[in-house]
Amino acid sequence: MRAETKCIQAGYEPKNGESRLMPIVQSTTFKYDTSEDMGKLFDLEASGYFYTRLQNPTNDYVAAKIAALEGGTAAMLTSSGQAATFFSVFNLAGNGDHVIASSTIYGGSFNLFNVTMRRMGIDFTFVDPDCSDEELEKAFKPNTKAVFGETIANPALIVFDIERFAKAAHAHGVPLIIDNTFATPINCRPFEWGADIVTHSTTKYMDGHDATVGGVIVDSGNFDWMAHADKFPGLCTPDESYHGITYAEKFGKEGAFITKCTAQLMRDLGSIPSPMNCYMLNLGLESLAVRMERHVSNAMKVAQFLQDSDKVEWVNYPGLPGNKYYERAKKYMPKGTCGVISFGVKGGRKAAEEFMKHLKVAMIATHVADAHTCVLHPASSTHRQMTDEELLAGGVSPDLVRLSVGIENVDDIIEDLEQALGAI
Ligand SMILES: *Cc1c(COP(=O)(O)O)cnc(C)c1O
Repeated sequence: MRAETKCIQAGYEPKNGESRLMPIVQSTTFKYDTSEDMGKLFDLEASGYFYTRLQNPTNDYVAAKIAALEGGTAAMLTSSGQAATFFSVFNLAGNGDHVIASSTIYGGSFNLFNVTMRRMGIDFTFVDPDCSDEELEKAFKPNTKAVFGETIANPALIVFDIERFAKAAHAHGVPLIIDNTFATPINCRPFEWGADIVTHSTTKYMDGHDATVGGVIVDSGNFDWMAHADKFPGLCTPDESYHGITYAEKFGKEGAFITKCTAQLMRDLGSIPSPMNCYMLNLGLESLAVRMERHVSNAMKVAQFLQDSDKVEWVNYPGLPGNKYYERAKKYMPKGTCGVISFGVKGGRKAAEEFMKHLKVAMIATHVADAHTCVLHPASSTHRQMTDEELLAGGVSPDLVRLSVGIENVDDIIEDLEQALGAI
């Protein structure tokens, strides 16, 4: 199946006479005839369900669809993108370990790593995604357990060189984790460029309608944990908290990462999305391919309009010819990047705030990457906890306006921008 078909049909296959749309299994628990039957599930000897904090059929249908879209072997849904980011790293690194991350990642991921996970004893080195090979090489330490980057950085819109970072990570025997939220598997498939694990905030394009917060982790099934067993004792030695199972032995390259993530992290930390939310996420996924096409074509026209406007100082959209990342974006995302554009209004911070006041179609919201066109000034909202130096290191100038182009009629969006720019 091609991506458009997978969006509709992957993950759930109804049998004769069953509901065409996946059922919402809104139940905390599952019943068994004998305790022996249930025991097999606890021992991971048989697959099945016993408690929704760990697994639920509705969630698994949707996870399987996303795994198919990314071309991975297994996936797990989480209650938010933050939980997905946290689990993806914490499944590999613990107290005393070290992780390399791109310095331009989403602000929420940056804080999670730089503040909360540091408090847990995990050390991070943040590298410029365009750093030299020597700088990247220098960032690796004997206790490095993973490298983390974002396909298209939110909100800096820097396109990550996945292939280059995957090669560097693999040369050091560690996996590359990619947050693929902005590109979606419709526009970029990080596994084809060497990434090992993919995460998403499904809150964005995947749900696509401002309806549900959620996340997902997908495993490519390619990373050979056993070949680097000394680095990954959590996957390659018996888990005494789970009946002495060695995940990499029992579930192989294809299943070890997600099984450990479920059996350990979801069991202990419990960030499972509700089956109802997963069902709604599935409705969003059904139209993902169609929506992404429209987001890209609308954003292209809006970016061109902004570039031609004499009220606009600069435009940053990796799909725009002349953009610093245009060639790299074409390589990784030949069908287009995403609907998010950033730009600076002439007159700086004050003019930008004035411009925002006059918008009617574009709504001021922290949200991005969904059907509704929305707009944000990060320096005074989402990124306000960051210092100016941290902002600039993250590629966010204090006058940056982030515009998330929706799937409305593009002429309405452009007319709205035109009148608001004219009102400054
Ligand atoms: C929003 C976002 C997240 C965090 O996801 P939530 O669903 O808000 O927890 C992570 N990464 C990126 C790129 C995002 O845009």
